[in-house]
Amino acid sequence: MDWKSQLKNMIREPSGLLKYINLTKEELAQIDKASSIFPMGITPYYASLMDKNNPECPIRKQGIPSLAELVTAPGEMTDPLGEELDSPVPGLTRRYPDRALLLVTNSCFTYCRHCNRRRKVGDPVKAITPDSLNRGIDYIRNNSQIRDVLLSGGDPFFLSTKKLDSILKELFEIPHVKIVRIGTRVPVVLPQRIDDELVDMLKKYRSLWINTHFNHPKEITSESKKALAMLADAGIPLGNQTVLLKGVNDCPQILKELFYELTENRVRPYYLFQCDQAKGISHFRTPVSRGIEIMESLIGHISGFAVPVFAVDPPGGAGKIRLSPNYFLSSSPEAVVLRNYEGVITRYTEAPHVENNCPGGCAICGEPPKSGRKGAHSGVGRLLSDNTEKAADLIPENLERSFRRK
Ligand SMILES: *Cc1c(COP(=O)(O)O)cnc(C)c1O
Ligand code: SF4
Repeated sequence: MDWKSQLKNMIREPSGLLKYINLTKEELAQIDKASSIFPMGITPYYASLMDKNNPECPIRKQGIPSLAELVTAPGEMTDPLGEELDSPVPGLTRRYPDRALLLVTNSCFTYCRHCNRRRKVGDPVKAITPDSLNRGIDYIRNNSQIRDVLLSGGDPFFLSTKKLDSILKELFEIPHVKIVRIGTRVPVVLPQRIDDELVDMLKKYRSLWINTHFNHPKEITSESKKALAMLADAGIPLGNQTVLLKGVNDCPQILKELFYELTENRVRPYYLFQCDQAKGISHFRTPVSRGIEIMESLIGHISGFAVPVFAVDPPGGAGKIRLSPNYFLSSSPEAVVLRNYEGVITRYTEAPHVENNCPGGCAICGEPPKSGRKGAHSGVGRLLSDNTEKAADLIPENLERSFRRK
């Protein structure tokens, strides 16, 4: 239950897994081979959530190295988001005018097998030096457009509470820095790290947001609930960023459950990320259409604030691009045609000051003069034509909602 001993007993060798799960000698050798590219590191707590016998366990898949990591699929790269391209000083990426991403450590308590920053995470040679951290903070100080600083890594809570306190203090002393966000997986892999000392330090800073990284409902345990409650009770707004991972959470039912449970624990689902084109993680990637299909099953079906934004961060540095199923079907100057989550096709009528440029009376449609333009008489086009007769909506048969109506 004590995070320091969790850290001391972090599982770094394949044989260390045997205390928690059953593995054959062959499997152990494979893990050894795969972890040579990206280190293995798992807290005893996170390992204790693993299914002893089922290799399909979502916790196992996220924590245990697999031979599939040795594969590089077409288009995969070491720096899939081009973070180094938009890096004016080492360890800082500025992609947007008003915010900057600052890496404060490259260590984590558990190395996620799907990590998109695996090129530099967990490698002692690429550790963040005090000098590069100072240069990053200086850059922020010298660029007054930056109002929002994202601390990431690695896991910022890997730093000592004292060290993190000094970074936060320095950042908040910069007049134009209004918000600092911390991205952390600690509530998932080592909730014990959220102790009174840490919370007391964090709550001194009024505009601090925390984004965590839950991917599966199995990760929400009594320990993680307690950690989240401590942060929420301290008044810290909590968000969550989920990565869509094949064989782990690429299912509407699993994600619905996850987002329900997060909101119950006062965490707002923020992003659902398409898995990045990072080298060695193609086995985790789903087609983009899977994400759209999942969003289709969430939007409208569950509380609006339980639905994250689905985003793809393509290579080259374009940044996050939001994707959604289409709800906008068509439009004319008089109306837009929309469809809702149930498939109901409906109309929103524009304000009446739109000029109608049809004089009427044309021989082809036979409308009387000056009656205004008439459009199609059936289908979606009927909703666009300017008749306001009732029952214009196109409603699917067997619409569940109509059975609930009196
Ligand atoms: C994700 C990200 C941000 C923050 O983006 P939001 O959409 O504001 O959450 C900022 N900088 C970089 C480099 C990022 O990758
Ligand atoms: S916690 Fe974040 S940085 Fe660390 S291994 Fe996981 S995804 Fe990568």
